[in-house]
Formats: sequence, structure tokens, C-alpha cells
Amino acid sequence: MLVSLNPLLQKAFCGKFAVPAFNVNSMEMVQAVFSAAEKAKSPVIIGVSPSALEYSADLLPSIVFAHAKRFSKIPFALHLDHGKNFDDCKKAVSLGFSSVMIDASIDYEKKDFLGKHPARKFSENVARTKKVVALARSKGISVEGEIGTLGGIEDATNSSVHLTDPEEAKKFVEETGIDALAIAIGTSHGAYKFSGNPKLKLEIIKQTRKLLPKMPLVLHGASSVPKPIVEQCKKFGLQISSEAQGVPVSEIKKAISFGICKINIDTDARLAFMGALLQKAHDYQGQIDLREYFGAGRTALEKLYGQKIKDFGSANKA
Ligand SMILES: [Zn+2]
Repeated sequence: MLVSLNPLLQKAFCGKFAVPAFNVNSMEMVQAVFSAAEKAKSPVIIGVSPSALEYSADLLPSIVFAHAKRFSKIPFALHLDHGKNFDDCKKAVSLGFSSVMIDASIDYEKKDFLGKHPARKFSENVARTKKVVALARSKGISVEGEIGTLGGIEDATNSSVHLTDPEEAKKFVEETGIDALAIAIGTSHGAYKFSGNPKLKLEIIKQTRKLLPKMPLVLHGASSVPKPIVEQCKKFGLQISSEAQGVPVSEIKKAISFGICKINIDTDARLAFMGALLQKAHDYQGQIDLREYFGAGRTALEKLYGQKIKDFGSANKA
């Protein structure tokens, strides 16, 4: 059952759990999300980035809707992840997404002297986010905004990380009317999240929660980069340093207890899929039935998603 973020995150908020948001790029990933969610009876958010949409020739939503019919008991949102501008969001709305994220905290149109995208001014972020809220509101579609920036966002973004200022977050929510707020508390996208001790700035969640007691808060860049998966990837040929490090599950659980209701997972899925694919290529030498490879990736993803659902406390909450 397709819904916006609102019913999912309200329930998570009251029940002190987080709904996983899994980014998908292909049919196998969509299937793994639905099977894991159904097995665990978990609500789920399917995230699609503008580049994943483009990669699928805009067909990913149709693949999601076709599968949703077979998993009708699972409440899910189809959510645009990191919409860069109004046009990305408008396109998602026209393709049937039930939720969009407008990430106007970063200026994707400009690059600084390091070739990175700079952070946008607060007023500019507000103006751009408001425009998307106006578009979505009339259609019952939810909007996620972002205040503060993460390190290493998918593309080449700014290297300087700006953690969320809770006072600014309050002002941002009041001025924009968004439904969910992504905050920056020291996580980053990718497989190298920390150079030292992997700790989140949990006090930012606490302070933001105090000022915005009803706003669902979102955590990006929250993959755990599990060691066994990294080891499997390394063993079968992926060049990944042993310095790869994610957010420990214990920190994620604390973040949930302080009020995080939606957690985005992308890197862990990429690693799990790659590990399985590479191992298959090693074990199944000389074979060219592609379904064996993609199928192995799908099985690994289903297992990973099941674990995330458990870690985030969303099992049996569908
Ligand atoms: Zn993100």
C-alpha cells in the first residue's frame, strides 16, 4: 500500500522505532526490499535518487508499483532521495512518487575551487524548499528537507561539513512547512565515514527534538559498513581499504531512542550486493547465466535489509 512519509513516520515517532529507507537501482533491489519487509512485517521506504531514475529510463517507479501489488500488506513510501532542484521533484511527482526530498542545502549547480558543490545560504534553502512544499501539498505528497550538510554526499559535494544548528532547524521547519527533516550529526555518505572514533553528535538530535517536539527527524549516511561484508568484498577482489568504517549499530540505536524516525541505507546495500556478486563470479567460473549473479546479489540484499529492519525496530510494525 503506497503512502506518504507522514503515516509511516508518525507511527515510528510514537513507537520509538525508525523506518528504513533503502535506495534501489534495479528490479532485484526492489524485490529484495519487498521480500525482506514482508518477511519481517515492516513498513519501508523505497528511495530512488535522480540518477537512479535516469539509469532506469524512468522505469523504476513502474517496477516498484508492479511488485507492490504482490506485497499489498506492506505500507511503503516511494521517495525521491536528494532531489537537487524543483524539476527533479516535479518529475518524481508526475511519476507517482508519494514523497520527495528536496536537498537545497547544497548548490549542485556550482563548484568551488576544489571542484566541490558549496553549501547554500539558509534563505536560499528555505525559498527552494518552500516551492517544493507548495507543489507537493496539493497532491498529498510528503516533503523531506535538509539543514546542515553531510560529508561526501553521493556526487562530489563540498568537503566542509556543516552540522545542523538546532535553532536554525526550528526556523527552517517553521518557514518551509516540511514533513520530515534530515539533520547532519556527523555522519557522511560512502564507506569511509570516520577517520577516528565513530561517534555521532547525538546532542544535536536531543536539542533539535526539544525545539521541534513533533518533527520526524531523518538520518542520512547511516550505513554500518559491516566488517564481514567488507572482508567478503576484499577477498573476492573489491579494492576497499580496511579503514572503511561506518556508524556502529549501538550509535544508531541511541539515535533512534533520541528521536530519529527514518534512516537511509545505501552504502551497505552496495557492499552486500558487490560481495555476493564477486563471490559468485569466483565460485561459478565459466558460467554466464546472469541470473545466478544478480540472484546472489538479491539474496544478500534480502538478508541485509532483514538485519536493518531488526536493528531499527520496525519489524511487526506494518
Ligand atoms: Zn543522503
